[in-house]
Amino acid sequence: MYDTLIIHTDEINLKGGNRHYFEQALMRNLKAHLGGLDDFQVIQRKGSIILRSEADLMAERLDLLRQEMPRIFGVAHSFPAKRCDQDINRIKEAALDQMETVSGSRFYVAARRADKTFPLTSPEIARQVGAHILKSGGGRSVDIDDPEVTVRIEINREGAYVSVERIAGAGGLPTGTSGQVVSLLSGGIDSPVASWKIMRRGCRVSFVHFHSLPHTSPASVDKVKRLAAALDRYQRDSRLYLVPFAPIQRAITASTEPKLRVVLYRRSMLRLAGRLAEGWGAQALVTGDSIGQVASQTLENLVTTDAASPLPVFRPLIGEDKRDITALARRIGTYDISIEPHDDCCSLFVPDHPELSSTQGAAQAEEGRLDLESLVTEALSGAAEAAVGPAPAPAQESDR
Ligand code: ATP
Ligand code: MG
Repeated sequence: MYDTLIIHTDEINLKGGNRHYFEQALMRNLKAHLGGLDDFQVIQRKGSIILRSEADLMAERLDLLRQEMPRIFGVAHSFPAKRCDQDINRIKEAALDQMETVSGSRFYVAARRADKTFPLTSPEIARQVGAHILKSGGGRSVDIDDPEVTVRIEINREGAYVSVERIAGAGGLPTGTSGQVVSLLSGGIDSPVASWKIMRRGCRVSFVHFHSLPHTSPASVDKVKRLAAALDRYQRDSRLYLVPFAPIQRAITASTEPKLRVVLYRRSMLRLAGRLAEGWGAQALVTGDSIGQVASQTLENLVTTDAASPLPVFRPLIGEDKRDITALARRIGTYDISIEPHDDCCSLFVPDHPELSSTQGAAQAEEGRLDLESLVTEALSGAAEAAVGPAPAPAQESDR
């Protein structure tokens, strides 16, 4: 019943001279997510991409479009559509045919006449098509405020398109257009959401996780792999590195002020992630911190932590409430994995009363008791790439 996918692009439309660069990236990503576009004729315009198939789309192809389009950054929304001639009678028939395929009787017709040579204006097209649908009976009524079905009609130079289905896009900018960052991925709720928010800005995100094997269970590493897999649905070909953190934790625990332990763990994580990032040509680090959420995230402790980082640290959740972060985690399909119980390396050897207002000077004084350079070198030599996947069931992403 559909032979076309109309894709409306998002922020790309605001770009000027370099818009082509973003459009090319989006085309590459569309191909990667949709397993190639060989079965489509591709028509690119400012603000939209139209994928036209000679034959009606098979159910499997349509399922793939419905699954993948919400995961492709740069897309505002897309519409599976049926093509017909630029003739108002054909359009009316196609609209009624489409209406018959969906449930819901309160409808609204939205028409857009991109080709101004078509004799009817957009409101007139909407009026005529609406009247035709009403006339067909079936207890249908027009509802502008809260329609169950929106019938979209788009008239372009090459034909008219009719659609009753809208697939929400992921928004943002196409993956790969904003450089590379390294995200510190724990097993919690926050860091996957932080990673996703940076991804949505067009960055390719590589993941680093610090594990405390043998003090923590292999299940917590498995959980992080599945989180990376869930995020990989949005960017593909993700890289995940696992870094052994137990020796550093043991050294910190043995020789430094207990109150500062977590801040010292965090400083070392940034050092290690920074080294890896530099090796990969990534320009910044990402964490899931939010001001004041836990003791290690007081403003003072974040500042002290930052001071040890060789690269800028981005914290996309810095001003977000936990409730909003949780809602986003559900939407992007990481929440169910994040809430599985796991042992966190940072909850090991943690004092009852951590410092809330550390200073860089105090942290450096404690680190002076450690042979940091060899600890860092040892951890990096144990760092290993892990396979990402398998991807969790798509049903975990909720509708947006
Ligand atoms: P999250 O849900 O991200 O775990 P959280 O509230 O538990 O958040 P913390 O445990 O204090 O936060 O960690 C703060 C940030 O430090 C995390 O968001 C993550 O970016 C990073 N981080 C913490 N532990 C690890 C780890 N084991 N491996 C990689 N990054 C980590
Ligand atoms: Mg955590």
